[in-house]
Amino acid sequence: MPMTTATTVPDEALVLAVDVGGTTMKAEVTDVSGAVLSSGVRETPQGEAAFETMGELGDQLLAELTPAQRAAVARASVVVPGIIDVERSIAVFSANIGWRDVHIGDRFTARWRMPVLFEHDVAVAGWAEWRYGAGRGLDDVCVVILGTGISGTLSVGGRLVRGGIGQTGEYGHISVRHDNGLPCACGNIGCVETVASGASIARAYTARTGRTAGAAEIFALRDTDADAKAVLADAVDALAAGLVGLVHATCPELIILGGGLAGAGAALTDPLHRALTERLRLVPAPRVVLGEFGARAGLAGAAWFARQGELA
Ligand SMILES: [Zn+2]
Repeated sequence: MPMTTATTVPDEALVLAVDVGGTTMKAEVTDVSGAVLSSGVRETPQGEAAFETMGELGDQLLAELTPAQRAAVARASVVVPGIIDVERSIAVFSANIGWRDVHIGDRFTARWRMPVLFEHDVAVAGWAEWRYGAGRGLDDVCVVILGTGISGTLSVGGRLVRGGIGQTGEYGHISVRHDNGLPCACGNIGCVETVASGASIARAYTARTGRTAGAAEIFALRDTDADAKAVLADAVDALAAGLVGLVHATCPELIILGGGLAGAGAALTDPLHRALTERLRLVPAPRVVLGEFGARAGLAGAAWFARQGELA
């Protein structure tokens, strides 16, 4: 049974949010204004051990509160990467952290003695950018989280689009390089991620120059280094090629870029908007902006989700 209780917690209540990433997990107890009452970070262990560490991190944050604050924590949310089945409360698969079919059930609910919601990290990050960040007030918004991988959310007509087991927005695995594409970790060829993820940008730059540089550094070099400029142009081209079908299908008025690579700012949003404009004939090119929560979108989203009770 889903543990969701789709009612908003009272304004005076506190919430516990846990955001699990591939290398670290972060957690916060916050109030309705977003003020942080306790926070912590742990390294994410590989495999199912990650779930015990999530439990310990939550224990630690709750223990740091005063008794009155502890009593005010009304709900928690735990958000994780990979494929998850929210309805059956199962973390189905994470390639990065290496778990398969981990049953969540009520393990956190019993431990922390409060309702605990479970969701996909990118789903809450994208939902939060749409509802409370750069997309607030709009009905048709696409959020793209650019990082190790590329995925996001889509809101159409004021509703978050969810698939059969809640998984949508796998924009990074739209295949855009059919003839000479690189193999993708997913098994396909020429996916957006093989060109436009942070790791792919770094790899392409090294292949051209023999030099090692991270994606952020390559963005910083774009005006003075022809190789950096070419690699980034190729990444933007792949991203635009992947998103143009989505724009034709759903006509979002806004595309929000979040995640680590969004730190590149206008160096990313302006070329992407131009590349989309060049490709679109029938429908207007959506505006392209940066997310407001930056790298905190997952954690901020988890807190909003714990407070609201559903991704509505
Ligand atoms: Zn792929």
